[in-house]
Amino acid sequence: MLLVLLVSSPAAVAFIRQWQPDVIVKGQGVTRTGKLSEYFEGIKGTANDPDYYYFEGSEPGGTMIFWGGTHPVEPAAYLAPILMIENIKVTKGRVFIIPQINISSFGNTKIGIGDISSFGIKTPWGERRFRFGGRGTNPIDSWPDPDVYTNFMTGQSLAGDESRNLNRTHPGRPNGYLTERLSYALLQMVKKEKADVTIDLHEAPPDRPLCNAFAVHERAAELASLAILNMEAQGIKVRLEMSPKYLRGLSHREIGDHSDALALLFETQSPYHGPLRGRADEANLLTAKDPFLVLASKMGRTSVQHTEEGVPIDLRVARHVTSIVETANALTELHPEKGIRIEGAPSYNDLLKGIGNYLKQPEPAAAGK
Ligand SMILES: [Zn+2]
Repeated sequence: MLLVLLVSSPAAVAFIRQWQPDVIVKGQGVTRTGKLSEYFEGIKGTANDPDYYYFEGSEPGGTMIFWGGTHPVEPAAYLAPILMIENIKVTKGRVFIIPQINISSFGNTKIGIGDISSFGIKTPWGERRFRFGGRGTNPIDSWPDPDVYTNFMTGQSLAGDESRNLNRTHPGRPNGYLTERLSYALLQMVKKEKADVTIDLHEAPPDRPLCNAFAVHERAAELASLAILNMEAQGIKVRLEMSPKYLRGLSHREIGDHSDALALLFETQSPYHGPLRGRADEANLLTAKDPFLVLASKMGRTSVQHTEEGVPIDLRVARHVTSIVETANALTELHPEKGIRIEGAPSYNDLLKGIGNYLKQPEPAAAGK
């Protein structure tokens, strides 16, 4: 017993440390903050009740809701919303940002398979560290998994642990697993706030087909095409992928089918959480320099080219920030009365010089929280 205690105590400390929330500095443009459970009581008091940040412009317009952290193994997908919370101002329309939606999953780091537990971004005033989580809700918050997870709408069968994967549980169920309830709460927010556009942020490994792409519901095709044109004018290439009708549980399919919102999902390129990769250290996560993937790419085993230069985190965050801003601009071009104007977001080229320049220094009290 003593021996077990001796071995498990340091491990327990490491796991509990991972529950410590990341510091997010409330930027000057934030109108107010709140909890997702305001839209559905069923997640109140649970480990999966994420914060949202609300921005309201003085000019009336449309409503956009976007979120990162569906999969906390995809860091650019939550760094982009955090950076925007700390920098942007909305002058027309309304924007809701949920930076870390599957907040329970940020405590589900797979240290056991060699994943890092956190990573640092260099800033002019020092380093800011962020948690690196798991792909699904922490099993201690949602246990036990079923043997087989069956999508309640279609009867489609998936592995049991997919019941904790937020991008398989949409549109959610009020009495379902914790992750299904989180999906349900998000859908209630989308409906109650009459969102015109929703965006789910991700990163994909280059051996998967969906790198540097927008996956969109068919009703969002026009909006996405115009946003992509705006991006290509700046030299940023994006692939447009239509959401398959028979693949259920995905945000772009279910939110598009179950609400009036135009549902989009954005992917950048990051090898870290893929099956083909080199050493899973902090450098690999931040630079995506990976000799195994360069070789795989040369052998034609990747969907996009992966070169020696890698894909720095600055570029991946720049892509997401620019994609969001250009989607708002495209909405304003298509439907001026539903327009959204986001100001203060650093440009693509400025972000390439280092996202750390735009991450704010936390107050000492907040840092110690
Ligand atoms: Zn993902």
